[in-house]
Amino acid sequence: VAKAQGKNRFQFFSEAIDGKVRQDLRLESALRQALENNGTGLWVAYQPKLCAKTRAVVGVEALTRWRMPDGQVVSPGEFIPVAERTGLISALGDCMLERVCTDLGVLRGAGFEFPTVAVNVSSHQLLQGEALVEHFCDTIAAHGESVCRFEVELTESALTDARGATVLEAFRVAGFKLSIDDFGTGYSSLGYLKRFDVSTLKIDQGFVRDLPADQEGAAIVIAVIQMAHALGIDVVAEGVETEAQADFLRANGCDVLQGYLLGVPMPVSELAEYLHKHRTLAKRVLAGHPI
Ligand code: C2E
Ligand code: MG
Ligand code: MG
Ligand code: MG
Repeated sequence: VAKAQGKNRFQFFSEAIDGKVRQDLRLESALRQALENNGTGLWVAYQPKLCAKTRAVVGVEALTRWRMPDGQVVSPGEFIPVAERTGLISALGDCMLERVCTDLGVLRGAGFEFPTVAVNVSSHQLLQGEALVEHFCDTIAAHGESVCRFEVELTESALTDARGATVLEAFRVAGFKLSIDDFGTGYSSLGYLKRFDVSTLKIDQGFVRDLPADQEGAAIVIAVIQMAHALGIDVVAEGVETEAQADFLRANGCDVLQGYLLGVPMPVSELAEYLHKHRTLAKRVLAGHPI
């Protein structure tokens, strides 16, 4: 009986794995097709980053979104790993940067500018070497944009790899700002903060989630802010969902807030509206009026 059950269990697992493999293959071929088709179904959602003190919009983060031909919306958590495994990530990255540049032009046409636009770059993209940086620079220049408005968000894994390090340095020399994403969740030493000219640390949402009640989380957040500031690095808190979190972060010197409380990732058409509303709000806060 045990043997039969063991066999059933094996069958169950192997079916589950089959299902995952099939789903990944389906995603891979649909993504390949989308990329060959000028990125049909792919678009960029922008999430605002706000000054913790004044709530002025200091920048936005570009986050990729994908609606498959059958209408199903797939999250980056699902398709980015597939893109990384299959090498489609470079084409995806190129496609997104093109969109971001186009969207910036649209926003400027509507009368909006903000200091920085952050794009996520996965450590797999760094395998392209310095050609990646050249390509980024060329795309940005072709759209008449300036590299210094761009920030690349990288996770800690990008910093521990020697090849990645060279590319990071090339990004920095070209004028991009460097931002460490999901700070505190990776395996790495703090030495890289000294080695690279990092402009921003993004505290992972895992440390923000249970603030202010979570004493350990609070201690980590306070320590990270102090360390970053001592090194001349700005701090962004990710995943801010409540006013209590925002109050705690602001009171402890966190520079920038990002999260559903302040703005969800939105298409460029909604971003224009959001920026318009926030321009007025920021003016009110600066003038000492409550929001
Ligand atoms: P990330 O760069 O750390 O982005 C933050 C994620 O948290 C985003 O998920 C965002 O929608 C979500 N988020 C923002 N505010 C809140 C909040 O208040 N609460 C909660 N629970 N979540 C919040 P998303 O858009 O699903 O992206 C997931 C990850 O996929 C990103 O993490 C990033 O690593 C990656 N990614 C997204 N777009 C791209 C891309 O174009 N290229 C690359 N290489 N990676 C990308
Ligand atoms: Mg990010
Ligand atoms: Mg993050
Ligand atoms: Mg993340």
